[in-house]
Amino acid sequence: MRHPRPPPRSRLEALRDASRTWSDPREAPWPVMFSGSLAGLRCGVDGTDNGPHPLMQRLLALRTLRAVPFCPEDLALGTPRCMPDLHGGDGFDALEGRAHVRLDDGRDVTDALIRAAGVMVETALRERVRFAVLMDMSAACGTQVISDGARGVSDRRYQVGFGVAAAALAGC
Ligand code: SF4
Repeated sequence: MRHPRPPPRSRLEALRDASRTWSDPREAPWPVMFSGSLAGLRCGVDGTDNGPHPLMQRLLALRTLRAVPFCPEDLALGTPRCMPDLHGGDGFDALEGRAHVRLDDGRDVTDALIRAAGVMVETALRERVRFAVLMDMSAACGTQVISDGARGVSDRRYQVGFGVAAAALAGC
């Protein structure tokens, strides 16, 4: 299965076009998926919510929005956990077998992350989410910039790209 990589502008245009058909959120709040940690779940690698996230708190307080929080890494690996990062490509590459997610102790957890990403997609479809608000830099949730290889090194590298779950959501 091909996982298209929509450029950011076309994603925004698609969202704008789709939103024209959505019901008035003052009558039926829009279901919006959030990275669990952005929604206050203590699912970060160290058992925290990676916070604080004051802007998210304002967003989550809107009556026009119903939050659907989800943490793919917690589902795949539990919390707390070692730090996962992408090696050899981004989340789209991992979905197609060209890249791997490895913990900082070297274990390959690609398959577990892909399974969890699938559950995240199923949840989004079941809940009929309109869009997702995701935490950047994560090997699962990132949508802009993620680590290129392990982040806990002195010469840490970065790449423009999606994490595994974000790539699965973008392709659904
Ligand atoms: S996988 Fe996503 S939801 Fe879970 S801690 Fe990382 S950024 Fe937050």
